[in-house]
Amino acid sequence: MTTSTTSDSLYERARHLMPGGVNSPVRAFGSVGGTPRFLVDAHGAYVTDADGTQYVDLVCSWGPALLGHSHPDVIAAVHRAVDHGLTFGASTPAEADLAQLVKERVPAVELLRMVSTGTEATMTAVRLARGFTSRTLIVKFAGCYHGHVDSLLAAAGSGVATLALPGSAGVTEATTAETLVLPYNDVEAVEEAFRTHGEHIAAVITEAAPANMGVVTPAPGFNAFLSRITTEHGALFIVDEVMTGFRTHPGGYWKLTGGADDAEHPWTPDLLTFGKVIGGGIPAAALGGRADVMNYLAPIGPVYQAGTLSGNPIAMAAGVATLTAATDDVYRHVDARSLEVSDALSAELARAGVDHSIQRAGNLFSVAFGTAERGVRNYADAQGQEAFRYGPFFHSMLDSGVYLPPSVYEAWFLSAAHDDAAMERIQAALPAAAKAAAE
Ligand code: PLP
Repeated sequence: MTTSTTSDSLYERARHLMPGGVNSPVRAFGSVGGTPRFLVDAHGAYVTDADGTQYVDLVCSWGPALLGHSHPDVIAAVHRAVDHGLTFGASTPAEADLAQLVKERVPAVELLRMVSTGTEATMTAVRLARGFTSRTLIVKFAGCYHGHVDSLLAAAGSGVATLALPGSAGVTEATTAETLVLPYNDVEAVEEAFRTHGEHIAAVITEAAPANMGVVTPAPGFNAFLSRITTEHGALFIVDEVMTGFRTHPGGYWKLTGGADDAEHPWTPDLLTFGKVIGGGIPAAALGGRADVMNYLAPIGPVYQAGTLSGNPIAMAAGVATLTAATDDVYRHVDARSLEVSDALSAELARAGVDHSIQRAGNLFSVAFGTAERGVRNYADAQGQEAFRYGPFFHSMLDSGVYLPPSVYEAWFLSAAHDDAAMERIQAALPAAAKAAAE
């Protein structure tokens, strides 16, 4: 395991100033050990730490950097916006520009509300669903992460999985009592929940494809089933596309998998949540969906929601520039590179005799050790894997100049900037890392 002198001293300083030295738990390298790298620059497919070491980046800021870091169009748009002021606390033309781009790509969005984080988007979606239906219960799936909303922190993935927490201290039993947590991909469990509690269920919320317990592919027809059963019982179907939206396809995972036009399994969300790519690297997120539901939000409707920096002009400019530059070619490139990396990863692990499966949802993927036989269909499978293999694998890659998500429960992210040189560095790093995972 390497240490990094400047990152070491920055971490030491940070730990006296911020809990755990970080502002988001997974950044602390808790599950892989060692010193978190303090990053000072990000361009294209590369990030550079405070020691001047450059890494091929497979985190992409956890998703936003679809185009690669510091894409010239996005930087130029931000510079232009900054020249006119940082925040107005009033409506701006750019908000409607971004909303228009979202609507064109995701037709299930009839109206959109901008917020600043994915957490705010899902929190508001839950409140809105309860307000619209006058019901209390929310169904969520174990291992799905929807941000750190109290009522959704029950059996959440992401950092909660990394830290092996059942949920979070500080979330009251009364709060989680109104959340039903079910196993993902389990049709019978959902049917049973609706049989028992149907008239009280306000909404089912799910990641469009889970990517916070590692990636899990929705079973064919599972989203369509959720869409159907919620409609039948007068509940809303909230599809969280914070991770998958604008990354797996211009229309998100919904469109990637056929959406309302899918011949066999048509499905349509009532509400969708977005984050990450929508802000192009600056804090922005949104919720959108059916106009009759969205109009329950203040100032038209009775469900309150607000935000000092919502629709911030710099973030809107970055979002508009990002979605505009995200052409079909970008998606083709990211899809192809993602397959290239995951195939190479799988081949090297197989060569080193490491039992594993690659989990995919569009261009998102992750590796799960010791799961070759059954794959990963839900949180129990994800937690049952040989997670201990990831730390040595991660550090070997890091030593070879490849920056991976510092947890086995996170997806790997590619970008339009991952070129042949970046690919070569990843390929070159894999054999030693696979051997480290084998030990
Ligand atoms: N929903 C999903 C699916 C996410 O992956 C995340 C964050 O990773 C969130 C919601 C929360 O977004 P944010 O971190 O912007 O609050």
